[in-house]
Amino acid sequence: MSLNSVFAFKCQEYDDSVRIVLERILDESGLKRELIPGKTVLLKVNLLMGKDPKYAVTTNPVIVHELILLLEELGMKVIVADSPGGPLNEAYMRSVYNACKMNEAVEGTGAELNYDFSSREVNLERSSTLKKFELLNAVLDADYVINVAKLKTHGMMTYTGAVKNLYGAIPGLIKANHHFKLSEKSLFGSHIVDICEYINPVFSIIDGIEGMEGNGPSGGDVVKTGIIFGSKSPFALDAYASNLVGIEEKLIPTLINSRLRGLIGDYEVITDVDKDEVKAYKLPDSIDISFMPNWVPGLIKKLIIKNMKYRPVFIHNKCVKCKKCEDICPAKIITMNTSGYPIYETEKCISCFCCHEVCPYRAIAIKKPLLAKMFSGR
Ligand code: SF4
Ligand code: SF4
Repeated sequence: MSLNSVFAFKCQEYDDSVRIVLERILDESGLKRELIPGKTVLLKVNLLMGKDPKYAVTTNPVIVHELILLLEELGMKVIVADSPGGPLNEAYMRSVYNACKMNEAVEGTGAELNYDFSSREVNLERSSTLKKFELLNAVLDADYVINVAKLKTHGMMTYTGAVKNLYGAIPGLIKANHHFKLSEKSLFGSHIVDICEYINPVFSIIDGIEGMEGNGPSGGDVVKTGIIFGSKSPFALDAYASNLVGIEEKLIPTLINSRLRGLIGDYEVITDVDKDEVKAYKLPDSIDISFMPNWVPGLIKKLIIKNMKYRPVFIHNKCVKCKKCEDICPAKIITMNTSGYPIYETEKCISCFCCHEVCPYRAIAIKKPLLAKMFSGR
């Protein structure tokens, strides 16, 4: 088996240099020569929510635009798609595309924004989590899927890059249902790896020009990392990119699982980036519930985990009562109080942070229990 290659090149701004870097990656990876003209490429971007690109929540439209142009020059037909963390319908997707400037990304090109929200069930008998799940037909029917992710931290999964981005191929609110069924981090990580393996993107790109640190994937802080990453292997790509921004692999359930399945292996890195110049990302506040050292006895570990469960905290003076958190909560434990503000049944919370992820107004913080502070030393 040939060695996987990971490409990481400096790119400081969302300007003309994006095209030069993307072209270099497509060229040096050999992808340019492998795509068959006339076929359909679906760009699976990260459109977690309708947010202006300046917040670094979503894949930047300049990356998408330049990629479309390069692919069209190769004779490809391009579709841009994602299923954000809300209801999947035309009105909602129009607002998301608009806010994330995907309309601008396709402007002047022949590419289309996806409005086919149909899906079908796929079978994955060997899965140890969910053997059947729905995926968008647009993703399943494309000749090629190119994964165009964003470099961010993630409240539940610690890090989100290439592998986690493909979870968005699960339609709309069905995603919340999977969160509920697989509320334990390692199981959820395994499920995400299943989805990534099933979709098997022909290539993965990570937009790391501006990434997000801290309480990602939507409530963190923008970091200028100045790098575009690419690889045929989303697993090797994530292993490299997360390490480069200082996030340990043992904290990332998708990478732990990918490593166990032998999906990462050895890989070569072709780069002009000096690791010493890359700022380490601040981790999310929710980190480390289940990542205690092996020397802690099992029973004590269980007790500690129970008492250091991270939970969301609703900040009512920032809340606009939009109910998005109520709609997304997989455990169905959020309701609105008599004043219209969200409240929830704390004991039933599965700490998935879907509510935190979808809140457009940063009105949900992550509460760190005292025991967790003592244990993590942070
Ligand atoms: S907490 Fe956020 S998502 Fe929930 S109702 Fe308030 S503003 Fe909307
Ligand atoms: S309250 Fe928030 S963190 Fe808790 S289960 Fe619901 S969505 Fe997940």
